[in-house]
Amino acid sequence: MRIVKVTVYKADIPLVAPFRIALGATEVAENFFVRIDTDEGIHGWGEGSPFPPIVGETQAICLAAARDMARLLIGKDPLDVEARVREISSFLPHNTTARSAFDMALYDILGKAAGLPLYRLFGGSPRELLTDDTIGIDTPAAMAEKAVKFKEEGFHAIKVKLGTTPEEDIERVRRIREAIGEGIPIRVDANQGWDLTAAVEALTGIEGFGVQYCEQPVAAGDLDSMRAVRERARIPIMADESLFDVYDALRLVKEEACDYFNIKLSKSGGLHMALRIAAVAEAARMACMVGCMSETRLALTAAAHLASARPIIRFLDLDSALTHTVDPIVGGMEYGEGGRIILPDGPGLGAEVDPAFLGKCESFTVS
Ligand code: MG
Repeated sequence: MRIVKVTVYKADIPLVAPFRIALGATEVAENFFVRIDTDEGIHGWGEGSPFPPIVGETQAICLAAARDMARLLIGKDPLDVEARVREISSFLPHNTTARSAFDMALYDILGKAAGLPLYRLFGGSPRELLTDDTIGIDTPAAMAEKAVKFKEEGFHAIKVKLGTTPEEDIERVRRIREAIGEGIPIRVDANQGWDLTAAVEALTGIEGFGVQYCEQPVAAGDLDSMRAVRERARIPIMADESLFDVYDALRLVKEEACDYFNIKLSKSGGLHMALRIAAVAEAARMACMVGCMSETRLALTAAAHLASARPIIRFLDLDSALTHTVDPIVGGMEYGEGGRIILPDGPGLGAEVDPAFLGKCESFTVS
């Protein structure tokens, strides 16, 4: 099998409302889709959702990178995913979101060629997948109101964005817990918004409010502070921005800097590296979450297949498509009651991008 054509689509997805985290606010998900066509009539789909403050990529950077990556792939065997992923990652080692879309499309082709859904291809089985839903940074009152809505919708866990000041953040969590009562875990995410002192103050202030864990309290590169936060605070720490690849995973384990990993395809460069991170996590007995940036249900489907195939992934934060005003995906994972994720049974991802949506997107083809 040979790759004969790659088409890249610029996909802008407006959000229902601006979504604010400690690193900035988003109003439109500036994503892109990649379609890889082969000489045997099988095609694969991938998607990237670059979040610049974390991955250092914009949509424009991803589109430029995609053009060069497409040229690298033409004429080659898509089923040799190992070789293709290594070629792409040695060409652009830091462009993880651009790479993740190609990695995803290659696995989609592999699954279709094998006649297996990706979770089966990875040796896994269907299992219960429950995502949380996330509240962006806002006033404590507005965040508490949203938490009540999520509780009424039946979500089993609520994720809360923090990372301004300890006083404000403690008040946010206090108001949310007061509004939703006991029983539903709250997960918090500071997105690097605190320093060591602020992190310890904030986490000590919210430790009585049923907080399951805290993502990325301090700067991504500051593992010393992350370990110190972990030593001084009682809430478990999850590495997110500190964890891109398997080498980061090993370093985090050795430094004893976190309790959990947050794996995202847009940081790992796709499924290939995500599976390797999951292997390190298993060896270190480090439970994982699989998270998202602002992907549509296409890339979320890939992440859900990964989660289904690897039980070390205990937590899911695959809620981004719930914030979009358009859903351009046909097939793929579906949201059931209370954040239940239902995976498709078709081969590969089991998802396609709606041709009517693609017809309105800017695109280019490399062949
Ligand atoms: Mg996070």
